Amino acid sequence: MSGVDSKISTPMQLSKAYSHKEIEHKWYAHWVGAGLFEPAKTGADYFSIVIPPPNVTGSLHMGHALNNTLQDILCRYKRMDGARVLWVPGTDHAGIATQNVVERQLAQKGTSRAQLGREKFIETVWQWKQEAGNAILHQLKALGVSCDWSHERFTMDEGLSRAVREAFVKLWEDKLLYRAQRLINWCPRCKTALADIEVVHEEGDGSLWHIRYPFADDSAPALIVATTRPETMLGDSAVAVHPDDQRYQHLVGKKIRLPITGRIVPLIADPFVDREFGTGALKITPGHDFNDFEMGERFNLDQISIFGADARIDANAFSARGESGAWIERYRGKDRFEARKLVVAELQENNFLEKTELHKLSVGRCYRCQTVIEPYLTPQWFVEIKPLAEPAMQAVRDGRIKIIPEGWSNSYFAWMENIKDWCISRQIWWGHQIPAWYCKSCDAGNFITAADGGYTLTKDAKPIVGRQRPESCPQCGGKELLQDPDVLDTWFSSGLWPFSTLGWPERSADLKDFYPTSTLVTGFDILFFWVARMIMMGLKFMGEVPFRDVYIHALVRDEQGQKMSKSKGNVIDPLEIMSKYGTDAFRFTLAAMAAMGRDIRLAEERIAGYQNFVNKLWNAARFVQMNLGDDNGAGAAPSRLAAGDLALADRWVRSRLAGTIRDAREAVEAYRFNDYANILYQFVWHEFCDWYIEMSKLALNGADALQAAQSRQLLRELLEQILLLLHPIMPFVTEEIWQTMSPARASIMVEKYPALAPAWIDAASEKQMEFLMGVVRAVRNLRTESNCPPGKEVKIILCAPDGDLAFLREQQPYLRLLARVVGAEYRAIGAGPKGAATAVVGATEIYLPLGDLVNLDEERARLTKEVGKVEEEIVRVQKKLGNGDFLAKAKPEVVEKERDKASQFEDKLRTLNNSLAKLTEIQAGRS
Ligand SMILES: [Zn+2]
Ligand SMILES: [Zn+2]
Repeated sequence: MSGVDSKISTPMQLSKAYSHKEIEHKWYAHWVGAGLFEPAKTGADYFSIVIPPPNVTGSLHMGHALNNTLQDILCRYKRMDGARVLWVPGTDHAGIATQNVVERQLAQKGTSRAQLGREKFIETVWQWKQEAGNAILHQLKALGVSCDWSHERFTMDEGLSRAVREAFVKLWEDKLLYRAQRLINWCPRCKTALADIEVVHEEGDGSLWHIRYPFADDSAPALIVATTRPETMLGDSAVAVHPDDQRYQHLVGKKIRLPITGRIVPLIADPFVDREFGTGALKITPGHDFNDFEMGERFNLDQISIFGADARIDANAFSARGESGAWIERYRGKDRFEARKLVVAELQENNFLEKTELHKLSVGRCYRCQTVIEPYLTPQWFVEIKPLAEPAMQAVRDGRIKIIPEGWSNSYFAWMENIKDWCISRQIWWGHQIPAWYCKSCDAGNFITAADGGYTLTKDAKPIVGRQRPESCPQCGGKELLQDPDVLDTWFSSGLWPFSTLGWPERSADLKDFYPTSTLVTGFDILFFWVARMIMMGLKFMGEVPFRDVYIHALVRDEQGQKMSKSKGNVIDPLEIMSKYGTDAFRFTLAAMAAMGRDIRLAEERIAGYQNFVNKLWNAARFVQMNLGDDNGAGAAPSRLAAGDLALADRWVRSRLAGTIRDAREAVEAYRFNDYANILYQFVWHEFCDWYIEMSKLALNGADALQAAQSRQLLRELLEQILLLLHPIMPFVTEEIWQTMSPARASIMVEKYPALAPAWIDAASEKQMEFLMGVVRAVRNLRTESNCPPGKEVKIILCAPDGDLAFLREQQPYLRLLARVVGAEYRAIGAGPKGAATAVVGATEIYLPLGDLVNLDEERARLTKEVGKVEEEIVRVQKKLGNGDFLAKAKPEVVEKERDKASQFEDKLRTLNNSLAKLTEIQAGRS
């Protein structure tokens, strides 16, 4: 690593204000140029992460920002802590999503995918990917992520594509893969199969139509059948009732003549029929309903597909079945929703419609385009999943994989226990084409011309699966072989991501060094899509889990807790935020709010607040630098100074630093990112800046040169430790300050993370400091309450047990520095004066004699005037609240605000009256 060689110049003094824009770009380029994101060549331990690959079509949103900030915190921390760290970045080819984007562009140019043809289309997508596809990776760089860009991967890279073919063939050889005609979820717009989890279900209003189904011989009154999808009755192949249903037992076995089509179908009995639904008699449509499909298999019923791939009535299919009648022409080419209207109108006209009821139902939609899903019969490829799911559950059960927070394990188990075979084929062009071929002569009858100009294959076609195109047909020796036109589900390749990115199926050095990966950081929404698949695939192909820990983070919502969405207009753009407040402030906000298992409600105010924190750190660093002057603090490290040589504040701050290091390490190791951020915030702002820096002024400005030198050294060391502690969350500002501390310095990235220093823990000093801080705060409060001018020095009287008195006497210089106390009188307990404001800290009584600092008569006049003003305000607000017109017209939150005001004024009045009473008491005590 050449951090020093490619050193870029940094001014040796910090500028007045932190300007993130110049600094962020400079350091990111430096880190990449110096190879600092690449894993170290040696190291006892390793830490590896594969990025959840964003879609090439994606652009950075809050979810990515949170996800990648957390990963970067872990990687930077582990790297500084001595591990060889590899963070693999990359993107997913995102089959349907990408194909949709490019198809839209083609449509704008007046052409289409079908017009281009497969080869040209794929070329166009690659071109698009080259030009626009990696936008999101550039956006990630703005976030400061320390990914090893030399390891960047794409799911359709040559290497990863080879891994996909290898996995497919292996599953085939192990008989875990099959091709079959099944009812699958079909998107009629995308014209492809979708997995169950790619279908989004939502409750909606629908209707329940009650339809008369007459018996063929009219020997009994017509059955009433209820359905939410009347148009599918064109594909009915039976009516079913429950075998124990007394209403129908005597009718089972009779034939029914379907309205409209006139098709004759049997009345069957099946225990799966829900007697409570409608009338308990169900139309059975195996071609368009998943439950009916299964019943159809049990009863060997006709599977009639009434629609084509576009969900329009396929009249030819009826003719091909030998059906006839004028109805076929009436329905030809009708869209499924038009067909529904037509069916209902026809039923009504011919007196087949008994009644229509409103009905709640769940509608499945395509997760990419929101089109209503059609269950559709097509030949597809499936992975037999049970044999893969079993070991994947076991790995979580026995703790080889830890899901954090643990509650998600239950969701994982629930889903895995009910998992169905995975449909992995997709009828699109962009993706990994399935490595299976068909012989043109053996399968001559099984090729069908497809709508997009290509071909599809019937369920009877016999695939020849291989790692590459076979030379010839193993059956007939024919050379004319055509590849399966389908591509694989995108999640098939991303399921291999943790090892395909490391070189599998090669037995690469990266696999040896970095597999299993250490941690996966992800959102819960892809726990099943992706995480479960990686676990199954990792165990299957590597014989080892793909990662040890799965950390599942929450969602970033808006201030009100609503999901961010374009339609609601409440989206906060991370790039805008970073440019406005600085990346460090933004990252710190995300970390500070990332409480385990709790969604983040992001308000811009919070980010502005943490920008103040960055500025606070900057100003503290400027203070330290100014005091270091030419002596930049190099020399005897104060850590080597004996504790006895150090002042109380020094011993205290060292002890607090040690505690902070311990707590911060524990928090980040346990993925408690919010604790990690808040522990550091607390220490830096409220201990180092608020107290220690103030107290150090005593030594720095004092006459004792040795003390001053020690203090400078300690300030320098503290600042450096703080920068190191903060670096994983705030990489840019910490590097900038770090670089100004010494000339020609290596990056803060290659420094050691602060180590635990148990010897620095000093409980006695912390206790003493707490006491001293308590006294300072008490005196400050007394001053404020007594309206004492801020700069004015005061005298106090302290009554305390002997030990405390001796201690406070020693700390008198600090009391002067921090509370403007000049001269304190030390007395025994109970010997306090009258006519003074008092406070108690522990066993110590503090008296601030008021007469010394204020003229009691003037104070009485001031308080009385103030009381008058507040009383007027109260009258005004009460009048408003008593006004019926105002109450009726004003918004509830406005009324609420007035009520708040009223109660605040009343509180103020109470305080003022108390002060007046105290004054009276003091004056009485004096006279
Ligand atoms: Zn779709
Ligand atoms: Zn053949």
